[in-house]
Amino acid sequence: MIVFAGVQDIALPDYRDYRICTHRFLNRAHNGRLPVIFKCYDAQLQVKEVGEKTYDLIIVGAGIIGAAVAYTYCKKYPTARVMLIEKSTKPASHQTGRNSGVIHAGVYYPPGSLKAKYCRQGLEDTLRFCQDYTIPFEQCGKLVVATSDKEVEALDTIFDRCQQNDLSPQRVNAKGITDMEPHIRGEEAIYVSHTGITDYAAITACMLEQARLSGALEIRYQHAVCDIEESDAFATITCQCSGETKQYRAEKLIICAGVYADSLIRQQGLDCEFSILPFKGEYFKLHSRFDDITSRLIYPVPDPAMPFLGVHLTRMIGGYTTVGPNAVLAPGKEAYNNYQTSLAELWQLGRSPGLWKLLWKYRQSVVSELATTLSKRHYASLIQRYCPSVTEHDFAPYRAGIRAQAVTHDGELMQDFCFVASERILHVANAPSPAATSALPIARAILDRAFL
Ligand SMILES: Cc1cc2nc3c(=O)[nH]c(=O)nc-3n(C[C@H](O)[C@H](O)[C@H](O)COP(=O)(O)OP(=O)(O)OC[C@H]3O[C@@H](n4cnc5c(N)ncnc54)[C@H](O)[C@@H]3O)c2cc1C
Repeated sequence: MIVFAGVQDIALPDYRDYRICTHRFLNRAHNGRLPVIFKCYDAQLQVKEVGEKTYDLIIVGAGIIGAAVAYTYCKKYPTARVMLIEKSTKPASHQTGRNSGVIHAGVYYPPGSLKAKYCRQGLEDTLRFCQDYTIPFEQCGKLVVATSDKEVEALDTIFDRCQQNDLSPQRVNAKGITDMEPHIRGEEAIYVSHTGITDYAAITACMLEQARLSGALEIRYQHAVCDIEESDAFATITCQCSGETKQYRAEKLIICAGVYADSLIRQQGLDCEFSILPFKGEYFKLHSRFDDITSRLIYPVPDPAMPFLGVHLTRMIGGYTTVGPNAVLAPGKEAYNNYQTSLAELWQLGRSPGLWKLLWKYRQSVVSELATTLSKRHYASLIQRYCPSVTEHDFAPYRAGIRAQAVTHDGELMQDFCFVASERILHVANAPSPAATSALPIARAILDRAFL
């Protein structure tokens, strides 16, 4: 098994027994500065002649990561046989079609992390992809606004991170903030011009269409993978499709299942030392008189312990403005409203090993996020700290998204992207924000280096 995440890519010395020790190993490798053992894989993708019903590559998940893998592979190997399996009726049904649409520039991520590396590359890749395929985007820039002395101190770290990540941030004082954005108030801010907005569902659909046009890709919607096997010769998946059971086999299998990443790792018969917990992000759409309230994205200073960025004011492709998202534990992996769950799912969630430790460790954030979901007025008060003219009466309903966030059995939020691989199968294990921005570099990393 290979695990790669964070500072350097890591190959576990003995992966024959398929025990996953992802986080424990990573902690040891990162904190103890273990010598990292590199295992040399043939970097070139081998496309072979295969018989009927044997694919060169099967990809699971039609979110942006699965689509980016399909696009990158089919572009390079148009004569390959590739299948993409998705349980929903269309692409981008989950995280990819329910996010803020921000093309992140890499403001917050520790230098050397995969998030920092892939986000920076992904910014350029996403802008180029949008230009090449005429997908709407706007590089509108972003202000991170501090509204207290304590937050002003925290801006120093963010400013340093921006510089280390090759951005050219600008410090802006209180007057400068209102000169740039007349509706925004703050003590001080950081301005980053690289950040942009786009429509990730449109990018995903375009990637799949390009891969399909190459002639290499077949797509099967409404196929839910329910079993995964690996033998010396093949990877085989079993799917449920309208009451029928179907099997497909391939030389290689790449699984990009978002919030179900942990379930599919276990379906392969591997131990999984983390759980994917569903963190719901609720948004509101602002009344149309706020469509042009700002010309940039406005973010608060985030809590450095959390991987979430705080409730921000976001110009959206389509010309409207949203506020959000908060971050509350959802009662189910696709519980966009609180009723989309079952007793069985609640029971399973309650038994997730890291859950109770996480809730205790981050109890302050848990309580304050819960308050935002219970009270619109409280939600609005978070925005009023930097944009006093918005009230809860300006809120209209808007779709929620559910983040797939890996949490270790110790209740730690896994901060960086993480992948888990055996001989023929690779799972994208932790790919929360900014993974939409980073999808193309993530796909290249999977295909070029780690796996095939
Ligand atoms: C509220 C919110 C805001 C965000 N904002 C941003 C942002 O502004 N910028 C940014 O860069 N990132 C953002 N992100 C993160 C980004 O959206 C995700 O990191 C990215 O979309 C992950 O893509 P994915 O393909 O891994 O997952 P998904 O889009 O969730 O796709 C996974 C797919 O796998 C399918 N699947 C799962 N299990 C099975 C199975 N058993 N069989 C078949 N198919 C299966 C699912 O149906 C789904 O279609 C945000 C996320 C959220 C939730």
